[in-house]
Amino acid sequence: MSQAAHISRVEAFHVDWGRRRSAWCRIWTEDGCQGLGEASPMAGGDAALEILAGALAPGLLGADPLDHAVLQMRLYHRHIKTGPDGALAAALAAVDIALWDLKGKLLGQPVYRLLGGAWRTEIPFYASIGGNAGRSPDEVCRRVEDWLPYRPSLIKIRLDADRTTRDADIPGDIARIRAVRRLLGEGFPLAFDANNNYSVQGAVRVGRVLEELGCAWFEEPVQHYDISSFERVARALDIAVAAGEQEYTLQGVRRLIDAGVAIVQPDIIKTGGFTGICDMAALARACGVDIVPHQTQPAVGQAAHLHFLAALPHAHHPAEYDDPSGVMDAVFAHPLRPAAGRFSLSDRPGLGMEVIEEELQPRMVPWRPGGRA
Ligand code: CA
Repeated sequence: MSQAAHISRVEAFHVDWGRRRSAWCRIWTEDGCQGLGEASPMAGGDAALEILAGALAPGLLGADPLDHAVLQMRLYHRHIKTGPDGALAAALAAVDIALWDLKGKLLGQPVYRLLGGAWRTEIPFYASIGGNAGRSPDEVCRRVEDWLPYRPSLIKIRLDADRTTRDADIPGDIARIRAVRRLLGEGFPLAFDANNNYSVQGAVRVGRVLEELGCAWFEEPVQHYDISSFERVARALDIAVAAGEQEYTLQGVRRLIDAGVAIVQPDIIKTGGFTGICDMAALARACGVDIVPHQTQPAVGQAAHLHFLAALPHAHHPAEYDDPSGVMDAVFAHPLRPAAGRFSLSDRPGLGMEVIEEELQPRMVPWRPGGRA
């Protein structure tokens, strides 16, 4: 390992994939070692990249990358008045993931080993199928059938309805989930994600059907910011209520647990990276609650998510996976692709994927403070 591994450069940039964009950062040491991180692309990731390039990068230059937890706490409090949730947390997550990737490369170890070792390096996934609010039961079933050849361990049906509506089509939602249960048969693990679209009464009505159908969990039945409604739904139902993809802080996750949420779902690219999500995992374990992280960004976010799950004791549910297109594989020498329902992690250092520079460069859109370069 180099004796002088100081941070010499922080790159914040979009990656343009054509049909979508990612918000990534790359952190370099002066001897040319690099780590890659990703921020949740909320609103295109612009706000997170601006915070990264304008506010966080100056505080990272010259620092020791192995001080990642100290750096995160310092930068979090330095900028906390911009709001501890949302873009600041996502930008800090990108930095933390990049610093763990870098640490793995400096030490020649995969991230999961630096987290304490792998309970598993073969990680089953579940198919997270979105956009179902406007589909007929038959159309929903066709989407499920498209996923079955990938051999998911569980199917999750997401509504993704207009967030300003509520209880818009409860009979239709019940018909959709019943049709999927008929298609999959009685024992197949199934979960349902309301994407915050129900009232308390609507959620209880749907939740009772999900219980009858033996569903594994009921995700975000009510608005994520409405903690008292979560509490009323969780109290009325036996099914595990899940939430947390829109929480950014340890304290936010604690509020959900206090409200009776039985599965918390923080996302590593929103919640302070490995450093943030490991705190949340410890909190969940102390409270007897499962952690099933949210994850919808292929490539860097996916790799970080899988390394975290490899090192997580008591991982009772498969990993979320929503895009088998492989659109981002081209920029890595060792992209993570599932086979026969599982991802396999190697023991390559860091996140285990090597950037192919000539593939990344043409897709990079650098961000400078104040806007796109
Ligand atoms: Ca969700």
